[in-house]
Amino acid sequence: GLRCLQLNSVSRVCSAPSDGAQHIRLLQWNILSQTLGQHNDGFVRCPDEALTWQHRRYLIVQEILQNQPDVVCLQEVDHFKFLQNVLGSQNYDGIFFPKPDSPCLYIEENNGPDGCAIFYKRDKLQLIGYDTRILEVWRVQSNQVAIAARLQLKATGREFCVCTTHLKARHGALLAKLRNEQGRDLIRFVKQFAGESPLLLCGDFNAEPIEPIYATILSCDLFKLGSAYADIKLERERERERERERADQEQLTASCDDPNELIAQSIKREPPYTTWKIREDGEECHTIDYVFYTPQQLKIKNCLEFPAGEQIGKNRAPCFEYPSDHFSLVCDFELLDEPLSED
Ligand code: NDP
Ligand code: CA
Repeated sequence: GLRCLQLNSVSRVCSAPSDGAQHIRLLQWNILSQTLGQHNDGFVRCPDEALTWQHRRYLIVQEILQNQPDVVCLQEVDHFKFLQNVLGSQNYDGIFFPKPDSPCLYIEENNGPDGCAIFYKRDKLQLIGYDTRILEVWRVQSNQVAIAARLQLKATGREFCVCTTHLKARHGALLAKLRNEQGRDLIRFVKQFAGESPLLLCGDFNAEPIEPIYATILSCDLFKLGSAYADIKLERERERERERERADQEQLTASCDDPNELIAQSIKREPPYTTWKIREDGEECHTIDYVFYTPQQLKIKNCLEFPAGEQIGKNRAPCFEYPSDHFSLVCDFELLDEPLSED
């Protein structure tokens, strides 16, 4: 069924498209590679039939189309042609960039490499240009990639950039360090591409908010970035606070000058999970997917909630209802007219 946007408790259904001239709806989702999900992940509680492409492909398309995003950023795409055909018939054009040495290729029944993809609504947006990057770690190419695209709103001529990535998976201090280096390379790449344009930077970062890369992104000196899901929570808290007409906004407000305090406030407000799965070695429920944005140029208006544990079910995801172990992040942004002043 439909999940709802946190629209000031208006409706449970989020069918209304963001069709205002300055509104941009972004959907960010690791859709789970067909080859990896079926033959490599070891989702021991997911029935085999639920993992078939026959079953999953309609759910993936449905999840995208029912949210009516203007921009779609996907990871673990190993059926780009299928998505291009289906989404192509529904007003979307897309870009794909595969991982240089995708683990899919080491599995017999593969459908080619997995990679990142960006789709956009062709009646609303014009692709001005794009660039791709094999992310470097200590100047050596890694197996992780990024795509950056410059899009123009046809109605107003205004431009913004979107960048998506899928960083190195797995746990451990060394891998967290590696992800941090990938993040540093990502920021350099996207800064070079986007310049001063409004930016949406999203993906599967494979890092919980407490990992170094989270602070690296929020405190980088090339961009001022915020995290959409954390910031919408802050906005809602401020609204409730204003309604109560309480004066002690001090503890809520993230508008302080201490960058470490800002990062801590943001970490605190990230959702409890963006992926929830069970493998042989146990259950994993954590936040590793993000939508970052430049808050001086874009205002976060709404974020789609994630399904609750009871909705997902005891076998978690993927399952018959949810085709990926990750949930989609859907964010409504408003392109601001003037840069906000620093406060
Ligand atoms: P990553 O470590 O980034 O992970 C690859 C995929 O595995 C991701 O999509 C990730 O999903 C998923 N994953 C994460 N955790 C687990 C888990 N516990 N069990 C199963 N799958 C998991 O891989 P790289 O891109 O760095 O690629 C791995 C390397 O292995 C490649 O360079 C490949 O060439 C190499 N290789 C593989 C061989 C093989 O036989 N498999 C043989 C030789 C080389 P998510 O991001 O959602 O967590
Ligand atoms: Ca995966």
